[in-house]
Amino acid sequence: MLPIDIDSVKGFLDKTEGEALYQLAFAASDFGPCLEIGSYCGKSTVYLGTACQQKKNVLFAVDHHRGSEEHQLGEEYHDPDLFDAESHKMDSFREFRKTLSRAKLEDTVVPLVAPSRLAAQCWTTPLSLVFIDGGHSTQAALNDYECWSPHIMPGGYLAIHDVFPNPADGGRPPYEIWCKAIASGLFEEQPLIKTLGILRRK
Ligand code: SAH
Ligand code: MG
Repeated sequence: MLPIDIDSVKGFLDKTEGEALYQLAFAASDFGPCLEIGSYCGKSTVYLGTACQQKKNVLFAVDHHRGSEEHQLGEEYHDPDLFDAESHKMDSFREFRKTLSRAKLEDTVVPLVAPSRLAAQCWTTPLSLVFIDGGHSTQAALNDYECWSPHIMPGGYLAIHDVFPNPADGGRPPYEIWCKAIASGLFEEQPLIKTLGILRRK
């Protein structure tokens, strides 16, 4: 199904969640483009992008490629392979491009190498699917929800990664925006797939 061995792509996405994303993008793609926030080295991008490619649709992939808090030097999920010594910054874009090239997705994925808020600033295109997997601070998660969820078309999907209803399992902000989306009354809630929250815009 996928064009490359997904285990060869660095990243943070369970296979069951990835397959669910593929299915969602495949269903959504008949109606409009898809967009993800948080691509890292392209694991989720390969799942979503492959579905979009099969439907001749487009996937916008938003990431500043400077890493989230937990990817920075000295932090728990820091990967020295992705550290650019010259700028002394994280840089996952090179690896991301390699993934797109290996997976032959350059005709489908439009990388937006920018902070989520900036990428959203002039955005007007209705989206059939928004996948939020960016920064995990309250500010970042809330920002992603507020900037991008208004662009989801009726019948389209909002998918949120790292939703942990039990605080013992993980951080709060993705769970909080998932709750906020449900409380808005604008979405129909679907069962969680592991940590993937899926909501359908009414
Ligand atoms: N979806 C990826 C994992 C994403 S990790 C996978 O399947 O493996 C989170 C990513 O969000 C990081 O690459 C980081 O650079 C990006 N990110 C964090 N905050 C961001 C922001 N405000 N704007 C854009 N990208 C952001
Ligand atoms: Mg995640």
